[in-house]
Amino acid sequence: MRKDNILYVVVPCYNEEEVLKETTKRLKVKLEELVACKKISSKSKVMYVNDGSRDRTWELIEEISKEEEFFTGICLSRNRGHQNALLAGLMIAKSKADVVISMDADLQDDINAIDCMLDKYNDGCDIVYGVRSSRKKDSWFKKTTAQGFYKFMRIMGVDIVYNHADYRLTSKRVLENFADFKEVNLFLRGMFPLVGYRSDVVYYERNERFAGTSKYPLKKMLNFAWDGITSFSIKPIRFVLTFGILLFVISVIMTIYCIIVKLLGHAVAGWTFLACSIWMLSGIQMLSLGIIGEYVGKVYSETKARPRYIISRNLEEENSRK
Ligand code: UDP
Ligand code: MG
Repeated sequence: MRKDNILYVVVPCYNEEEVLKETTKRLKVKLEELVACKKISSKSKVMYVNDGSRDRTWELIEEISKEEEFFTGICLSRNRGHQNALLAGLMIAKSKADVVISMDADLQDDINAIDCMLDKYNDGCDIVYGVRSSRKKDSWFKKTTAQGFYKFMRIMGVDIVYNHADYRLTSKRVLENFADFKEVNLFLRGMFPLVGYRSDVVYYERNERFAGTSKYPLKKMLNFAWDGITSFSIKPIRFVLTFGILLFVISVIMTIYCIIVKLLGHAVAGWTFLACSIWMLSGIQMLSLGIIGEYVGKVYSETKARPRYIISRNLEEENSRK
C-alpha cells in the first residue's frame, strides 16, 4: 500500500464502556505500527460509532478522541442496532478514507488480521472478508446456532460468505457504490457480495469477548436471521407456489377419485360433492396464493431499487484521463 492511503477502522459500540479502553490501547498500537512501516497514512483513524449507549460509552469516546490523535467518534441519536450503526460509520468514513475496515468493539475479531487484509487490498482486492477459522472459544450454544444460521441462509438462497460476520475491508469505491443500495432492512454481510469487484478472505481465530456481555441475545439473533432471509430471498414465496401447484394436482386426482367412487356406487349421498368441493377449493386457493406471492415478490425486489449494474472500469474514460 502506498503510504498516503488513509485507513479508517469503523467500530460500532453499544454499551461497551468495559472494553473501550482496552480496544483503544490495542488499536492504537496497531495503527502506529502500520504507519511506522508505511502501510497507511498518518491521517488514518479509528472511528467509534456510539449506537445510543446507555452507559458511559459516549463520554469515553469523547475523552479518547481528545487525548489520542488516531481516534474520532460519531454518536447516533438513539439505539438503531448494529447494522445501522455500522452503515452510518461506513458512509461517513468513505468520504475521508481510501480504505475502510469494520470490526466489533469487543476484540473478538483478531486485529492482527488487518495486516493481511491490507496486503490483499494491495494485491488488487476491493473487498476482503474476515472469516473465522474456528469457533473453539464460542460456547456450544453460540456455535451451533451460528452454524445453523449460515446453513439455513444457504438453503434459503441467501449468498453469504460462510462464517463471516462484519469484520471486513472495503475500498472507497465499493462504499461509494454501496451508497446506492437504499434498502432500510439491512443485512450488510449479504449485501456486500452484491457489489461485486475482486474479493478475498482472510482467516482468523475468533477470541472470547474481552469484557461485557453479548449485545446479540437469542431474540435479536433470530430477528437478524429473519431479516436476512426476508430481505434477500423470495424462496419462501416460491415454496408457497410449489406447494400450491402440488396441492392443485393432488386435488384434481382426488376429485377424479371421488367421482369414480360415486360412479361405482360406493358413496353415500352428498359425500362426493363435499369432498370434491374441499379438495378443489383448497387446491385453487393455495395455487392462487402462490401466484399472488410471485407478484408480491416482484414488487418487493422493485421497491428495493438496488442498482442494476455497477461498472468497474471504463477504458474510454481511463484513456481520456491519461
Ligand atoms: N452493537 C451495536 N448496537 C446494538 C448491538 C450491538 O452497535 O444494538 C455493537 C456492539 O457494541 C459490538 C458489535 O455490535 O461492537 C457486535 O455485538 P456483540 O459483540 O455483542 O455481538 P456477538 O459478537 O455476541 O454476536
Ligand atoms: Mg462480539
